[in-house]
Amino acid sequence: MRLSLFTLAATLTAAGLAAAAPKKPNVILIVGDDMGYADIGAHGSKDIPTPNLDKLANAGVRFTSGYVSGPYCSPTRAGLLTGRYQQRFGHEFNPGPNPANEFGLSLKETTLPTRLKDAGYKTGMVGKWHLGSAEKYNPVNRGFGEFFGFLGGAHDYFQDGQGQNAIVRGTKPVEEKEYLTDAFTREAVAFIDRHQKEPFFLYLTYNAVHTPLQAADKYLKRFENIKDEKRQKYAAMMSAMDDGVGAVLAKLESAGLEKDTLVAFISDNGGPPINGSSNGELRGYKATTWEGGVRVPFLVKWPAGIPDGKTFDQPAIQLDLHTTILAAAGVDVKADWKLDGVNLLPHLTGEKKDPPHAALFWRFGPQVAVRAGDWKLVKAAGFREGRKGESNLDGALLFNLKEDVGEKTDLAAKNPEKVKELAALWEKWNAELVAPTWGPPAAKKKDKN
Ligand code: CA
Repeated sequence: MRLSLFTLAATLTAAGLAAAAPKKPNVILIVGDDMGYADIGAHGSKDIPTPNLDKLANAGVRFTSGYVSGPYCSPTRAGLLTGRYQQRFGHEFNPGPNPANEFGLSLKETTLPTRLKDAGYKTGMVGKWHLGSAEKYNPVNRGFGEFFGFLGGAHDYFQDGQGQNAIVRGTKPVEEKEYLTDAFTREAVAFIDRHQKEPFFLYLTYNAVHTPLQAADKYLKRFENIKDEKRQKYAAMMSAMDDGVGAVLAKLESAGLEKDTLVAFISDNGGPPINGSSNGELRGYKATTWEGGVRVPFLVKWPAGIPDGKTFDQPAIQLDLHTTILAAAGVDVKADWKLDGVNLLPHLTGEKKDPPHAALFWRFGPQVAVRAGDWKLVKAAGFREGRKGESNLDGALLFNLKEDVGEKTDLAAKNPEKVKELAALWEKWNAELVAPTWGPPAAKKKDKN
């Protein structure tokens, strides 16, 4: 039967997009590290052009209230790969002082690549892992068919690491000559090339723009106008990652996979003061439960499945990417998986109008927060100041983020009922959590977060 133009147009309406989509799109999940919220063009950055991230934003959906479930590297990744609040299984903090072999993503949890592998996907990871260095925790033993990258939380960009933080392919150390960000891009493009004929899942986790601040000359040259040395290096590192995103998108186009590939991008937490990043008007930094610690660049593009050029203002969280990707892949999510993430697809197509979440929650030691609608109840600290101590809402501040995204005006005294309502939601969630499996790292001058 020949489809009339009218039928075709009707099939392509927003509501029909998801239904018309192929059963198994490719999936590329890209994670940046310690990015400032304001440091992409789509969020208004003036001094650091990010044309490729902007392209991703413009060709897909940009989340204006996109969150991560922690203000720190490892916890956020644990949440992303399990689709569950990581505090449910003790992964509240980075590894800290405990022996490396004892630290890792709980083996009782099932990962996104495992679920996709079971659904027939070729799975691969390129980049920073930070979910355990022991062999049992290695990505190739957690659902990834292939792995190129490093197992720790930070890495030199010019030199091979040592021991447990070497650059590895699978479990074997390799020598790497390229600037690390470029090496990750090279490996990501090669993975797409190898698997272009089968459904694939690529988890591409740049350590850019995490410290150490190191940039290759070709990127530094782009920012001779930036006089602040820290900001200049940061800009160059961001530009290298943006080029990488561009190379991945270009590869999808040349392989004819652009329409049927879901590409998502987030940062693992907000920008810290130490890398020259800017969180713009958001208060606070990485390692805090202020917006500047947990609200991140959050972009999703899937031409065959969701509308383009859209902004999505309702709060969403990286846990949702887990569930959304499973839905896109046609995986039947089971109730006993106890996912906290929501399938965002019907919200993005407009099929569902209600917000994906009644509330979102945070707990990072004594720093805690809950957001419901425009309201946020929060107890936060300064960068690296608040990791030890009891988790409770005593003395928490209340903000209306719609009117006060910078969390400047505490409305708690004026709205005792709202405080009570949000506190009750948080207490109920908190009661479901377990104690952290490893403690918060002691504050020190140079930590490998
Ligand atoms: Ca990070």
